[in-house]
Amino acid sequence: MAKYKLEYIWIDGYDPVPNLRSKTRVVECAGFPSLADVPMWGFDGSSTRQAEGKSSNCLLRPVAVYPDAARENGVLVLAEVLSPDGSPHFSNARATIQDDPEAWFGFEQEYFLLKDGRPLGFPRDGYPEPQGKYYAGVGHALVGDIAREIVEEHLDLCLEAGLEHEGINAEVAKGQWEFQIFGKGGKNAADQLWIARYLLMRLCEPYGVDVEWHCKPLQGDWNGSGMHTNFSTRHMRETGGREYFEALMAAFEKNRNEHIAVYGPDNHLRLTGLHETQSIDKFNYGVGNRGASIRVPSAFVSDGYRGYIEDRRPNSQGDPYKIASRILQTIATVPLR
Ligand code: ADP
Ligand code: MN
Ligand code: MN
Ligand code: MN
Repeated sequence: MAKYKLEYIWIDGYDPVPNLRSKTRVVECAGFPSLADVPMWGFDGSSTRQAEGKSSNCLLRPVAVYPDAARENGVLVLAEVLSPDGSPHFSNARATIQDDPEAWFGFEQEYFLLKDGRPLGFPRDGYPEPQGKYYAGVGHALVGDIAREIVEEHLDLCLEAGLEHEGINAEVAKGQWEFQIFGKGGKNAADQLWIARYLLMRLCEPYGVDVEWHCKPLQGDWNGSGMHTNFSTRHMRETGGREYFEALMAAFEKNRNEHIAVYGPDNHLRLTGLHETQSIDKFNYGVGNRGASIRVPSAFVSDGYRGYIEDRRPNSQGDPYKIASRILQTIATVPLR
């Protein structure tokens, strides 16, 4: 029997931007614990805006386990928050997903790395060279000195955790980066994204670096941060067709406000019609169009309107549970033909 360090990770009750919380429990287990080996737990909800002081206990129901390569015998335990009676807590967006395991999601998470409140690589005063060469760039002048070390370590931690991590790239603004997480099923994909966010924030602690998830941390001619959400259902991949696609887009247009409501706070600052975005009060789609609300890959059209499409509106601070939930909800309104 070995002692495993179980890091229970959950999402708190702050609104509009919840925080990740975690605490450790040591448990003896014969081998690497599976989900069934991991017990329910609880926490003080009055410290996380999830309960009043008088009856403050909230429950943690484990929903997924991942190896934690940063710790010996470490386990990352993602948990849903339940009320004391066992029902889903109001802060538990995961529980709202009407999931479809055949719906595939790919999240492109953008973010800034900040030191002393400034993006990594920014001079102490003023601004660096305007954006242009930073996207996918190489060299100290473009990337700075610790950013790549951090993103590389993060990639390894994600892979060692077994996440379906698909890649990384330096982004358009200086100090801005992206990673991509894929998953089958809305819950599964969003679970992995939250774990990847947790690993990045924890990794940055000893560097004295903060992860800035806000969608528009820099004023002026600097890109904001999105979380483009790529998705496909079995029907989209295997049957598709122009008629179905147009009906799907009509449903997305009709539910524009409902989508924007869960696509992350302050999105009006980012969805301006500039910097590869469509403005927040418009809806359109376009083949290969990075200025559209929804980008349709050209292969989608040439394959008979089959495959995945990219909703470019969700932002970097959005909750992937709410985003996946809303996308699935809108898809479910469109009859298959
Ligand atoms: P971009 O050109 O927009 O920067 P990326 O390569 O960063 O594209 O991201 C593409 C995303 O699309 C990846 O997260 C990938 O997992 C996702 N993806 C690829 N195929 C599918 C599919 N069939 N269904 C859903 N998502 C998909
Ligand atoms: Mn990308
Ligand atoms: Mn990007
Ligand atoms: Mn994209």
